[in-house]
Amino acid sequence: MTETKPIPELISLKGRTALITGAASGIGRAAALRFAEAGADLELVDLDEFGLKETKALAEEFGVEANIHRADLSRKVEIDVLWEALRGQEPDILINNAGVYWFNEFTEVDEGFYEKVMAINLHSIFWMCQHFVQARKDQGGVIINVSSIEAFLPFARGLVHYDAAKLGVVALTRAIAREYGRKIRANVVVPGGIETEGVKKLKKEAIMKFDMEKMGISFHFNARLPMGRFGEPDEVARVMLFLASDLASYVNGAIIPVDGGFLST
Ligand code: NAD
Repeated sequence: MTETKPIPELISLKGRTALITGAASGIGRAAALRFAEAGADLELVDLDEFGLKETKALAEEFGVEANIHRADLSRKVEIDVLWEALRGQEPDILINNAGVYWFNEFTEVDEGFYEKVMAINLHSIFWMCQHFVQARKDQGGVIINVSSIEAFLPFARGLVHYDAAKLGVVALTRAIAREYGRKIRANVVVPGGIETEGVKKLKKEAIMKFDMEKMGISFHFNARLPMGRFGEPDEVARVMLFLASDLASYVNGAIIPVDGGFLST
């Protein structure tokens, strides 16, 4: 039996630390700010040090401690160095959000490109989770991994490599949920159509290059969206907060779309 607590206590992350990757922008930054508001101290990881500093300053306005770590998560050696730096104060919550949606025609993908995309979008999550489970398998903890609607319904062209990696994220999360569920809850968030800087840049590029195919896909994407609008990064962050908190104490191995209903159409 779990204790029934009032909602403010269930959602509070006071006394906990969350490590968030890709925290310099987009969904990662939004998560950092919501987690800070809920009282969590933060370990913020990204390649982009300038963006990390901005996120840190915004998060600290909530009175929590936020440390930044510049790391290239495509390199296992840098992941190992990161966890070495965290030794003895490993986080209670791990959010693997960093990812890249680089477009490339399937027939043009070469080994170097494929390996880089896999390293960032899938392998890094494997190694981050391994470090987390090694550190937290007795005390317990929460993992939230970020996949994509593309893994379930390939829609954009030129993302075969991305889709494969993002479905891999689902498989590895569910396997961890199965194997370590007694102590660690692991769930997958599946965003789609979230208006982040990355997505805005893609839309702008399609218009600037007058790329009719991408503009057409974007038009059809919008037409399919039941809610008729793109989502805000904070709308994903709020679901992550729910999953990390004790509100979700019996949610494990779940796949949660945050896509305005796109996958249901
Ligand atoms: P974003 O581009 O705004 O942010 C991603 C962050 O990851 C950036 O700050 C970037 O510097 C960081 N990053 C990239 N490569 C890295 C590396 N090698 N090491 C460390 N950090 C690295 O993206 P976003 O739109 O906020 O997306 C966040 C996650 O959500 C990604 O995994 C993405 O695939 C997923 N996603 C987003 C959408 C969407 O609509 N925005 C849809 C589906 C899935």
